[in-house]
Amino acid sequence: MNEFELIRHYFDRRQSVPGVIVGVGDDGAVLAPDPNTDQCQVIDTLVEGVHFPVGTDPADIAYRSVVVNLSDIAAMGGRPRWMTLALTLTDASESWLGAFSSGLFAAADKYNVVLVGGDTTRGDSVVVTIAMSGEVEKGCALLRSGATPGDTIFVTGTPGDAAAGLALLQQREANEYLVGRFLRPTPRLETGRKLVGKASAVIDISDGLVGDLGKLLQASGAGAEISIDRLPLSDALRARFDVDKQRRFALTGGDDYELCFAANADSVVELAGITAIGKVTESTALLCLLNGDVVEVDDSGYRHF
Ligand code: ADP
Ligand code: MG
Repeated sequence: MNEFELIRHYFDRRQSVPGVIVGVGDDGAVLAPDPNTDQCQVIDTLVEGVHFPVGTDPADIAYRSVVVNLSDIAAMGGRPRWMTLALTLTDASESWLGAFSSGLFAAADKYNVVLVGGDTTRGDSVVVTIAMSGEVEKGCALLRSGATPGDTIFVTGTPGDAAAGLALLQQREANEYLVGRFLRPTPRLETGRKLVGKASAVIDISDGLVGDLGKLLQASGAGAEISIDRLPLSDALRARFDVDKQRRFALTGGDDYELCFAANADSVVELAGITAIGKVTESTALLCLLNGDVVEVDDSGYRHF
């Protein structure tokens, strides 16, 4: 199969989609964005051996590559529309490509984003880059920078599951739920949309709750106190790891793609799937409290002062 046939077979679906004037197949895509919106543009690269273990099912690699971008769109309050895919392959085996494209379109169809172009090359390891654009009402994109002292800090879902899943995967141990949270995280697009006009600051958690909340606070020029005992932990995480590990995964593990946001608590009471974990403060420090005591959290976990 030559490159042209490969693209045609695995990535060109020739469907007609509103807003896509020209999709895969020409020198560039021609798109008609909704004129009443601002465009959010995001991009993420996943490198084999760095962002996913060598030997990961290509369907999962593709699914995850789409979701990590959707998560950034969710954190901006956007609705996803289009994506392009730059794919570096070590070989072009048909079974690999078949699985990859099925995972890619499974995520794309589930979350309503359309592949409109890309680039395919050969290299020494698998590298997947997806660039995606989404739309949000003019002037309404959610930013990291608006957290205000007195706001409540919330998190979606149950952070820590993906990092626990990756740890199990690396030890070749099984746990369908936890490993699934790593391989196929849920982009919080619905929550992101509902936060438009409500949240004062939003970030998605790719590097770990404490690190990413720290970025939000820095952008906002504020600090926070969060309670470790209020972290929402999944039953699967609790059943599989001791309490220290559970908290370590939830605080510093990455790859969850949950949203962390600041908001006036009254404005989000009706939102499902969120948990209040703390408050924005005037100081610029991020304090983690355990039973009222401040504990220090770093990359290797947390420890008492
Ligand atoms: P060019 O040489 O003009 O850059 P290519 O031969 O690389 O074009 O690509 C031909 C068409 O196929 C373009 O529309 C491009 O966007 C699309 N394409 C290439 N690789 C992929 C891919 N992995 N996924 C989706 N579309 C792709
Ligand atoms: Mg060209």
